[in-house]
Amino acid sequence: MNSRNALLITLLLSLVAILLWLAIPKVRENSRYLKLLAETPPARLPVPVSGIGRSDLSNTWGAPRSGGRRHEGIDIFARRNTPILSTTHGVVVKRGIDPLGGSVVTVAGPGGHRHYYAHLQRYGRHQVGDWVRQGDTLGFVGNSGNARTTPPHLHYGIYTLTGAINPYPLLAMSGKSARETRWKSPIKKKQRRSRRA
Ligand SMILES: [Zn+2]
Repeated sequence: MNSRNALLITLLLSLVAILLWLAIPKVRENSRYLKLLAETPPARLPVPVSGIGRSDLSNTWGAPRSGGRRHEGIDIFARRNTPILSTTHGVVVKRGIDPLGGSVVTVAGPGGHRHYYAHLQRYGRHQVGDWVRQGDTLGFVGNSGNARTTPPHLHYGIYTLTGAINPYPLLAMSGKSARETRWKSPIKKKQRRSRRA
């Protein structure tokens, strides 16, 4: 082997080593994401606004909205700049401006459900691609987007692969009460309905 070939082989090996070094974190990241998609979405979620209890919530799912739209989520009113806490673990897939939602953060959670947090006053520290834990601060309550004429609130939506589901039953359910069993069927009905749509 002449010295030129040896140099070429050394260069090629270095290139392969560099590519592997770059590729492995990506592979690791992808398998973490696949694991997240395979997880069962939780049947119960914590209220995503600091200091707000389950009994403070009201079910505004399906209420009429501008342009013939129906309300696809829950509005949780709170003082401006109240921390917004992630209801699940997952990965941030959007952090930016939406025409209706204003400043929004979307987290892909267990089962690939997308958790949409809208009308933020400002964002938390997480960027797109960052993994979050349940309870991490995603941002702060505001009235950005089409909420600019309303008092500050968080609009929280959950999107499954087949469409939006009502977050209220998942948030309002507490403990092992009789309410919990009553809530189960409306969720399934909603999912069936959105599948048909
Ligand atoms: Zn809303």
